[in-house]
Amino acid sequence: MSGNPAVVMRLVASAYSVAEKAGAIVRKVLHSGDLGIVEKTGANDLQTLADRLAQKSICASLSRHFPKITIIGEEDLPAEEVQEDLIENGQAEDILQRSCPEEYRALKEEELVVWVDPLDGTKEYTEASRCLHLQAVAQKPCKGLDKTHGTALWLLDNVTVLIGIAYGGRAIAGVINQPFYNYQLGAEAALGRTMWGMLGLGAFGFQLQEVPADKRIVTTTRSHSNKTVTDCVNAMEPHEVIRVGGAGNKIIQLIEGKASAYVFASPGCKKWDTCAPEAILHAVGGQLTDMCGNAYRYNADVKHMNSAGVLATLRNHDYYVSRVPQSVLQALKSD
Ligand code: AMP
Ligand code: MG
Ligand code: MG
Repeated sequence: MSGNPAVVMRLVASAYSVAEKAGAIVRKVLHSGDLGIVEKTGANDLQTLADRLAQKSICASLSRHFPKITIIGEEDLPAEEVQEDLIENGQAEDILQRSCPEEYRALKEEELVVWVDPLDGTKEYTEASRCLHLQAVAQKPCKGLDKTHGTALWLLDNVTVLIGIAYGGRAIAGVINQPFYNYQLGAEAALGRTMWGMLGLGAFGFQLQEVPADKRIVTTTRSHSNKTVTDCVNAMEPHEVIRVGGAGNKIIQLIEGKASAYVFASPGCKKWDTCAPEAILHAVGGQLTDMCGNAYRYNADVKHMNSAGVLATLRNHDYYVSRVPQSVLQALKSD
């Protein structure tokens, strides 16, 4: 790379380092055992100290280096001085070295919108924490909390940090940090990974894999289900259904060959849930739309809620759109 890197490449490189710092904050709060849980709209819409600190860290770090970009974070936080130890100044060197796709070379800070979900999968984060706490008290694995897996520790993998970058209303780049990746190994040093992607460049930090074409594995919500969600999943005629937490986590399942479609026929997911995942999925040829097959827009002034649901696939998007029942479309429209 000769000369100064393009603004958007510098932004992605910063977002990468900032997401790693946020991931470390998410781990630290879990290990402290004191989550400081607050209910937002109800018991299934939670905020923890990790959500608050990670968002402060991400937003303050990015706006220090890119004062003119618009940053929209999930959490409603009071405007206050951010402690210096929450600021991340690093930029991933290998991203800075890459050549920027031609169409994004001249982008200016003020044309970019950053959508931040500081902790996606908060519900699962709190459940895993409870499991760890019970384990520590009882000095043995917390069996019985989860029917399928025995313990609830697998829920740690549902947790991600999402930083999405939009230009002209489109998600063009994204970073996903998975703070507890490799949690099975137990060693702090080995924990976490970061994936990123950009339209025109591809996606990195994972091994792209596909579910065999003759198998339909549908991934959907585990904590925000309702009849419409279930009806729609069943209408896909899946061979298998996986119920896990987090929008970021479900996109990881698509790109790592664990699921063929992410189906969520309900409002609830917001733009900060889908911007980074959508950019990474698009970068490898996948699609993320509402249940009708229409793209979402990510301009600064759009409605935050993805009211018409989320449908994401790596391949065969049209098949899944065609299977959505009229009754489901009607239910989403009347929301
Ligand atoms: P899930 O698949 O249930 O983990 O949801 C993916 C993302 O959308 C998470 O950030 C959830 O918090 C959010 N979400 C989905 N449905 C709802 C809801 N009914 N209320 C609040 N947040 C929701
Ligand atoms: Mg989220
Ligand atoms: Mg969140």
